[in-house]
Amino acid sequence: MPLFQKAAFSTTVADLRDLPTDSQCEVAFAGRSNAGKSSAINTLANHTRLAFVSKTPGRTQHLNYFQLEQGKYFVDLPGYGFAKAPEEIRSQWEGLLAPYLRYREALRGLILIMDSRHPLTELDLQMLDWFAVTGKPIHVLLTKADKLTRQQQAVTLQEVKAVLAEIGGNCTQQLFSSLQKSGVREAEAVLGEWLGLEITEERLPPTGLASEKTARPKKRSAIGWSARRSGKAH
Ligand code: GDP
Repeated sequence: MPLFQKAAFSTTVADLRDLPTDSQCEVAFAGRSNAGKSSAINTLANHTRLAFVSKTPGRTQHLNYFQLEQGKYFVDLPGYGFAKAPEEIRSQWEGLLAPYLRYREALRGLILIMDSRHPLTELDLQMLDWFAVTGKPIHVLLTKADKLTRQQQAVTLQEVKAVLAEIGGNCTQQLFSSLQKSGVREAEAVLGEWLGLEITEERLPPTGLASEKTARPKKRSAIGWSARRSGKAH
């Protein structure tokens, strides 16, 4: 049985004062709009429409809580990257997201969703830099891996790994496909550990993806993320 099979929508939080008080452990999901965040949450919960609750009117700019079991939650954060007024972005970030990400004690780690064809955008890098200082772990899900060849998958994984190593902190990464349901086992292992959930072999589906060992590229291609990073303003 998938680890998060019992996930159910719990509440939408627009104000820090309304954060659930019974949460002992929670994991937040962030990423650019359209990167595949809702699909990834649905895949992990083995539920086709669960996270689309977050896309309904009145909920898209807030924190959407999904209860996994008593006191344990996934928290779906607003997708970033769509053109919004700067004032709107600032007030959402300062009023809700920044204090939530920095001070929420129950928050165990951040799952950062990136489209594997366009990973590490400027906003992704800003989020990584900003969250890494909390000392809490970040796990990057490189989604839509089914759109890449095996070789492109391996190269992308290595490139992202190199950039994350530069950022420092506690960052890991993996390939993921909601379409093929691949990478689920690896993600469940990370989430299960963060959330203190017991994972038994019978509960884990196969990953269906090449491991780093079997699919290591011969040489790194010059995608230039590192160069872009070093040139960016903080
Ligand atoms: P969100 O805005 O980050 O929540 O993204 P969605 O989960 O709504 O996905 C955006 C689009 O990408 C939708 O058309 C999905 O069907 C598609 N998508 C999401 N995950 C995958 C995937 O693993 N593989 C493929 N091929 N398409 C995906």
